[in-house]
Amino acid sequence: MQKTFQVGSKTFVLDQAKAEAAFAAKKVINGRETMTFNLLPLKYQWAYELYRKMKANHWEPEDIPMGKDIEQWRDEKALTDAERWIIRMGIGYFSAAEGIVGDNIQHVVRELVTAPELKLVLGRHAHEENIHADSLLYMISSLAINPHECEAMFEDVPTIVRKNEFVTKVSRELRRELDLTQAASKQLLAKNIFVFGQCMEGTQFYGLFGMILSLYRQNKFPGIGQMFRYTLRDESNHIEVFRNLFMDLIEENREIWTGEFKEELRGLMAEAVTLEKEFIRDCLPVNSVGLSADDFTQYIDYIADRRLEGVGLAPLSAGIKNPLPWLAEMMDIKKEQNFFEGRVTEYQKASSLNVAADDEL
Ligand code: FE
Ligand code: MN
Repeated sequence: MQKTFQVGSKTFVLDQAKAEAAFAAKKVINGRETMTFNLLPLKYQWAYELYRKMKANHWEPEDIPMGKDIEQWRDEKALTDAERWIIRMGIGYFSAAEGIVGDNIQHVVRELVTAPELKLVLGRHAHEENIHADSLLYMISSLAINPHECEAMFEDVPTIVRKNEFVTKVSRELRRELDLTQAASKQLLAKNIFVFGQCMEGTQFYGLFGMILSLYRQNKFPGIGQMFRYTLRDESNHIEVFRNLFMDLIEENREIWTGEFKEELRGLMAEAVTLEKEFIRDCLPVNSVGLSADDFTQYIDYIADRRLEGVGLAPLSAGIKNPLPWLAEMMDIKKEQNFFEGRVTEYQKASSLNVAADDEL
């Protein structure tokens, strides 16, 4: 018997019995291991949809002009020391962080999940971390910052060292032979996905995102600000990828979703928040125009609770208000008609042309 399957705008006719068997064999973990990248029939529809969405948001660092940023960086009077320090901390922290996230996807998460459409979206996710790492190189070279200084920051700035250690720990725990049929191993993976998606990309990235966008709002570092806005748009998709992955992993392995495990995850988020607050105090030793460390630390409490709720966990600071509402507005990049629009549309056109070509096959 034949059955019709729909993938996006494409239609496929598959042998029903084979398709059903292949569908049933698809699992987040412990599913059928196959050398062939058999996307059909698609089980995790969200993964394919996010993959398409991420691809349509493609950007390249060099398309963003850095002329104004270079001018401001060189002009003694254009910036305060506090503002320069935020840019250094931003470049220093993210230079390490983007690589750590990409490495964990490629060597841990993408290795352990079994459904091909999950591997597909994780491949794109890892590629976007490469774009982010590349954008930092572009900033470093444009401002003529000594790259060794950035490297030294992730060894010499204790609050950066602690943030990195917090995440690399849950990555290292999984780099060995693990029997993923054991509940304890499944929890290690769930913990990894939670820490990377919700604690790191979802919360610990937001202190600097907020500070850099606050400068951007004052017309300082327009090129860097723009790159961070594109990065932030990518990160919202990454948080969503890891949130869905986490939810499906839990759904398929209900035995690991114990009260004790939930509390462990909330405890990890609390730790992430503490580390991020210490880091924010380092970035903002003194309050500067439009930049108050208290606002940013409260913002972290607020964001952390949104992440916890997103995966069905109780908040840590129930009822907390967003102290920086303008940030939410600025992060909503979709609404804005910006100078980069032309290029984004070009990429989107190219990808929809591919869809049309595929459809004719
Ligand atoms: Fe990133
Ligand atoms: Mn990311």
